[in-house]
Amino acid sequence: MPLIVHRLPAFSDNYLWLFHQPGSRLAFVVDPGAAEPVLQALASLDLDLSGILITHHHPDHVGGVDSLLHHTAVPVYGPPDIHQTTHSLVDGDQLTLDGTHFKILGVPGHTLDHIAFFEAETPLVFCGDTLFAGGCGRLFEGSPEQMWRSLSRLAALPPATKIYCAHEYTKANLLFAQAVEPENHAVQKRLKQVIQLRNRAQATVPSSLAEELATNPFLRVTQGSVRQAASARGLPSGGTVEDVFAIIRHWKDQF
Ligand SMILES: [Zn+2]
Repeated sequence: MPLIVHRLPAFSDNYLWLFHQPGSRLAFVVDPGAAEPVLQALASLDLDLSGILITHHHPDHVGGVDSLLHHTAVPVYGPPDIHQTTHSLVDGDQLTLDGTHFKILGVPGHTLDHIAFFEAETPLVFCGDTLFAGGCGRLFEGSPEQMWRSLSRLAALPPATKIYCAHEYTKANLLFAQAVEPENHAVQKRLKQVIQLRNRAQATVPSSLAEELATNPFLRVTQGSVRQAASARGLPSGGTVEDVFAIIRHWKDQF
């Protein structure tokens, strides 16, 4: 049975994810940057908080953990460097929560401690700030090579995998995607849909991996069109896929 996932908006553009098995009141929250939206959702949905999942250490992902623990002392599943973590998770670990099985992927790049939670039955992945709808996270701690390797691992998940990222950045990301690949009709079509959704203040997340493979320039650096765009911005002839990724990521930082 697919997991039931509730989207909880926080701050200006974050999404916190609250999930549970169909028919179960045991709920788990991913990346609670704030406690209040979580407590409100638990009350209105009549769910009990049973655990906290963390993808990486940034304040907008962990800022609400202490308040939630003060409210209910629950296990915290996350990277070892986070002081509230009670169950350390690293690449290759398995995690089962109320019958939901996750495979943990180490996905360094945005931060070095970043992990993602893949669930094969729905299928879905909680990927924090690594892969975004139409884009990817900034490189605060890792190298372009690390981020490319991390994104390649996410790109190898089943195409039907739903991408539960942590921010509503899709419109800006697709405007950039259009600059990278002006001839990509899938990008144009998706951008049009996303603009319509955002004009109605609707969410564009989760997306599917299949959509990302067709439109996300950071998953498409092996394509000739993306390499061509990188060449126009200084890619040396014979540059590697990692070089293409580094140039596209650097371009996005200034876009
Ligand atoms: Zn972050």
